[in-house]
Amino acid sequence: MSQSRRDFIKVVIAGAAAASCPITEEMFAASAGPRPAVDGEQNEICHKVRDGFAFRIPPASAHRDVVIVGGGISGLAAAHFLPDHDWLLLEKESHWGGNAYAMEYDGTVYATGAAFMIDEQDDAAQLARELGLSLLPIEEKDGTILKGEFIPDMWGENLDRIPYPATVRERFKQFKKAMMAVDLKKRMSELDQMPLTAMLKGYGPEVLAWWDCYGPSNWGAVSAETSAYVAISDFQDFANEKLATTHNTWPGGNGALTKVLSERLLASNRDRMLTGATIVSVRQDKNEALVTYLHDKKLTTVAAKGVIMATPKFITARLVQGLPEAQRVAMRTIRYCPYPVVNLIYDKPVFNKAYDTWCPGNSFTDVIVADWTVRKQPGYKQKYNILTFYTPLKESQRAEMLTESGSRAIAMRVLRDFKKVLPDTNVDPVEIHIFRRGHPMFIATPGTFTRWIPTAKKPMRNIFFANTDSEGPVSLTAGGIAAAKRCIREFQAGLKGSGVPVKAARA
Ligand SMILES: Cc1cc2nc3c(=O)[nH]c(=O)nc-3n(C[C@H](O)[C@H](O)[C@H](O)COP(=O)(O)OP(=O)(O)OC[C@H]3O[C@@H](n4cnc5c(N)ncnc54)[C@H](O)[C@@H]3O)c2cc1C
Repeated sequence: MSQSRRDFIKVVIAGAAAASCPITEEMFAASAGPRPAVDGEQNEICHKVRDGFAFRIPPASAHRDVVIVGGGISGLAAAHFLPDHDWLLLEKESHWGGNAYAMEYDGTVYATGAAFMIDEQDDAAQLARELGLSLLPIEEKDGTILKGEFIPDMWGENLDRIPYPATVRERFKQFKKAMMAVDLKKRMSELDQMPLTAMLKGYGPEVLAWWDCYGPSNWGAVSAETSAYVAISDFQDFANEKLATTHNTWPGGNGALTKVLSERLLASNRDRMLTGATIVSVRQDKNEALVTYLHDKKLTTVAAKGVIMATPKFITARLVQGLPEAQRVAMRTIRYCPYPVVNLIYDKPVFNKAYDTWCPGNSFTDVIVADWTVRKQPGYKQKYNILTFYTPLKESQRAEMLTESGSRAIAMRVLRDFKKVLPDTNVDPVEIHIFRRGHPMFIATPGTFTRWIPTAKKPMRNIFFANTDSEGPVSLTAGGIAAAKRCIREFQAGLKGSGVPVKAARA
């Protein structure tokens, strides 16, 4: 595609960094194409907290049982499992859902983050059922595109079909056999301390290239920075052709779950749920915890019997005053991957071969078909073929997302590489949407799961630590929910110990 044609494709930029780098319409007046719309994650206040800005903290003006900080799936789940408590849920964005958030183009829903549920029995699947959301099975296993060739279920049954010489195919098979035989239970802490590259030695650059695509998408790291335990435990499920579990999702990915959950909560708790409320400080006093937040340009402090911090640890470490040093260090040691997600919106069918297809060696790692789980439903007609491209970046590339031109360049690289991967695709998207997030996924580096997370999540008297980065081994929607349930148990146990009457929770 020529440079000038590219200029005419509308690029819609949403998400992280827009608030700290406001983009006005005027900036695009000279652009050849239609103007991009800009939406933004509200990071301005968070950056003030990061930079040590001293807020004038007012005294408490309200009392609650529990204040929940952060309205991603973890914070929403905490509210859901505390129905009989007087809780207050605070979220800095103008919408609920955090990293599990769906958007829509002319009636077709697509994911901007979390895509699917791995296990039909995990906490996310259970919660979905409880909310009356039927699980929609993905059915087919992932595809892979190598050298322009689409290979269905490569690691399952089709290693003989990969377009490499026989010696290379043999190495893929040997690697699979060796990894499937690893005793994960016995070797968990040893493997979690070592990088995946230690296990990849001798299997050749092609196997490494596959992992350097799969790892960043799933846990934000290439093989050299990935815990061997994390990779092998994932692989033993992923490559197991005998495993009966089906992955499930909805159009919009796991954002469909946070949408239903937040709507359900709002229906009867509107006055207890505040968006646009950025927490600037959380601290303990003698009997209560004090949470100060900025909302409508006003600082308010609320006192609570307990606080559930459902924010990621790099933020939590800055908000919570008086953390024990080891815990603060653990929280600050957990690393986070910058992770834009690019949606190419086509008004013609372009790619519908697998739900999730891996494309090693490109600017994106994998591509997902947005309406995959409903495309065969009676009466359904695909109006738009929306393709969601997962585009994790290195931490050193984070700054690229800060500008409109950087974000646009990321989106254009995806379009360029998709055309390279599927050269027959001679159709341009009608629009490109890019959702930017600066630190959405904690990175499964060696030691994160067995060393840093256990220390980071320890309750601090009446302050409890949720969020998926309290669970691991990788960032999962189900992990966020499991963390919320654990916090509620810790809160209940704390109340029992203090002699304060305990009300029922459903966790
Ligand atoms: C690109 C991508 C793809 C993914 N794919 C999958 C997948 O396929 N399956 C899966 O299970 N998981 C997936 N995940 C992981 C999943 O999205 C997360 O594990 C999950 O959404 C985390 O939820 P959470 O509530 O723990 O945290 P978050 O979603 O990070 O929620 C934290 C919330 O706190 C808010 N907040 C932060 N600071 C403040 C403050 N100072 N004041 C108030 N609010 C604040 C944030 O705005 C946010 O809404 C993916 C993640 C990404 C980024």
